[in-house]
Amino acid sequence: MQSRRRSEALFQTALAHLPGGVNSPVRAFRAVGGTPFFVQSASGAHLLDIDGNRLLDYVGTWGPAILGHAHPRIIRAIQRAAERGTSFGVPNPLEVDLAVRVKSMVPNIEKIRFCNSGTEACMSAIRLARGFTRRDLILKFDGCYHGHADSLLVKAGSGALTFGHPDSAGVPADFARHTMVLPFNDEAAIRAAFSQRGSEIAAVIVEGVPANAGLYLPLPGFYEAIASLCREYGAVFIFDEVMTGFRLGQGGGAQKVYGLQPDLSCFGKIIGGGLPVGAFGGRAEIMDLLAPLGPVYQAGTLSGNPLAMAAGLAALDELNDSDAYTRLDALGEQLEAGMVDAARRAGIPVCWQRIGSMFCGYFTEGPVNNLADAMKSDRARFARFFHGMLSGGVFLAPSQFEAGFISAAHTPADIDRTVQVAAQVLATL
Ligand SMILES: *Cc1c(COP(=O)(O)O)cnc(C)c1O
Repeated sequence: MQSRRRSEALFQTALAHLPGGVNSPVRAFRAVGGTPFFVQSASGAHLLDIDGNRLLDYVGTWGPAILGHAHPRIIRAIQRAAERGTSFGVPNPLEVDLAVRVKSMVPNIEKIRFCNSGTEACMSAIRLARGFTRRDLILKFDGCYHGHADSLLVKAGSGALTFGHPDSAGVPADFARHTMVLPFNDEAAIRAAFSQRGSEIAAVIVEGVPANAGLYLPLPGFYEAIASLCREYGAVFIFDEVMTGFRLGQGGGAQKVYGLQPDLSCFGKIIGGGLPVGAFGGRAEIMDLLAPLGPVYQAGTLSGNPLAMAAGLAALDELNDSDAYTRLDALGEQLEAGMVDAARRAGIPVCWQRIGSMFCGYFTEGPVNNLADAMKSDRARFARFFHGMLSGGVFLAPSQFEAGFISAAHTPADIDRTVQVAAQVLATL
């Protein structure tokens, strides 16, 4: 058992000064119990905490660290940019460079705007879609997360076609009324929604692959149905690739995997190379409605920040220049084979879900195709599994309802060790 005395003491101090001791809720370990650790430094696939424990990291800063932590190419790019100044508030060439690079990798982007977080990207894409269509209603899916803007912190009402309800205190019911929430993978529900209210729907927003309630995949035909309904009714198809963008291979993300042409795409996480960035882009006809060209307002003092642009460029260049995606897929397969086998040997039902280097093991028989299925997992068992893994030096996301991420800095030996630790822990559950 590793000592976490320093982290525990610092967390007590943090609790006095930061609400819940953290700046983002899932970091507080509430879903698994115990106290979070503080990171001293990180390199490659490993974190070093302030008690000196070295942890193999499958959180990867929730996705951005696809090349591992402190990748030399990214660090150099940030250093070089910082020496020239950290923010100007007037255009800098790196903004154009990153726009050109993203466009060269994502065919569906004609114009792009950078902002500072995935939340901002989705919030702004929604406003833009509403401005473009002159309609108010947004359609989203249960369990999909698009950041914490008011229109998107909405959960399903009691019937599938009722108005959404606020999913947070502070979100006016009047706002939630403009968002309809449907079960993911339910083609009939979305067809019914369009046939009843199609002329009011400004946009459908969906995650590239839902990965904010664990991980589940679209059934064949589901995304195609969304795309064709949007076309038929003149609604904007917004594909939220904040998590999946540049994670799932060359060509942008899930839109390449599933052969889709969304009207607007949202990015974040990897596109900032570990610095705070968001972006949204797509059809020029829609994007050109943004201020200063058009009537849809959107702005940011630090948007297009040179450090963030430099880090994003370095990350995308490294992904282009290396065989990272091939290795990530192979590591993903290796982890899957090992974990499925370990669970079978332990006689514990685990529904293992994976696409490329993103994964989630639900403690349930499965199948898991939507939020209701995911909720069947044994969360108490997950919490014991999480703490067992942490004691064995492996850091998984501290919630059953988060995806795990492999980085290009993980090695086959790291994966082997992970599977060995998991086999030992599963045997105690
Ligand atoms: C993380 C995430 C967001 C929000 O991004 P932030 O940078 O945390 O604001 C939005 N959508 C998806 C799919 C995400 O995974």
